[in-house]
Amino acid sequence: MNYIDVHCHINQTDYGDVPLFLEKVFACGVRKLIAVGFDGPSSDYCRKIAERYDWVYFAAGVHPTEYAAFRRGDIAAAEDLATHPKCVAVGEIGLDYHYPDTDKGAQTECFLQQIALAEKYGLPVQIHSRDAAEDTVEILKQQKPALRGGFLLHCYSYSPETARIISDLGGYFSFGGVCTYKNSKRARKTIAALPADRILSETDSPYLPPASKYGKFPNTPESIPEIVGHIAALKGLAEEDAADIIWKNACALFKKLK
Ligand SMILES: [Zn+2]
Repeated sequence: MNYIDVHCHINQTDYGDVPLFLEKVFACGVRKLIAVGFDGPSSDYCRKIAERYDWVYFAAGVHPTEYAAFRRGDIAAAEDLATHPKCVAVGEIGLDYHYPDTDKGAQTECFLQQIALAEKYGLPVQIHSRDAAEDTVEILKQQKPALRGGFLLHCYSYSPETARIISDLGGYFSFGGVCTYKNSKRARKTIAALPADRILSETDSPYLPPASKYGKFPNTPESIPEIVGHIAALKGLAEEDAADIIWKNACALFKKLK
């Protein structure tokens, strides 16, 4: 079976020996992995890993809560990486209103500038959206023409109804460890309701461990088979068929994957 993790973070602090870590990930059947940046330096680190391993790709971008990176101009660093042959997306970008003192104006500006960047280079975007469903949907509607390279809502956590609206706008959705928990009713309902051709698998490693690694850190892309198993069950598919569909969906959205 060929699995893909479309959204994870890789760094030495959490994983120590990165080559050994990647060897273990490959051994469990993950055959493509998209390492995602959250600011200029992390995006560049992902580039280095992607240059060393042919099955690793990357996304470059500035995360909504990384104000310091936004203010020091890291979007320009992301732009430098956008034309790299293994840079498959701009991300992660978006809105995160979780902390009450957040600067929503700066987040919106950072988000819009990077949607424009994706449009300029014909890339899809990977979107992080937390506690900001309404504003995110509004931006997706307004920016529909600029998002013609495609977009993914990573770790999708809103309602099935909102998913429907976003799916009608052409969005894709990726699900991680959360969907493996019995009490994660919303994520499980959303997966059951979405068309199979919009669903992708991710881990958001080192965060969001699946049920079998509850409370453990770091999570790793080795959790992908467990996640795909749950997606398959929710869709009434054999695990192998679910893995195939997810692989095809990823190649349809991230056109630079080879
Ligand atoms: Zn992430």
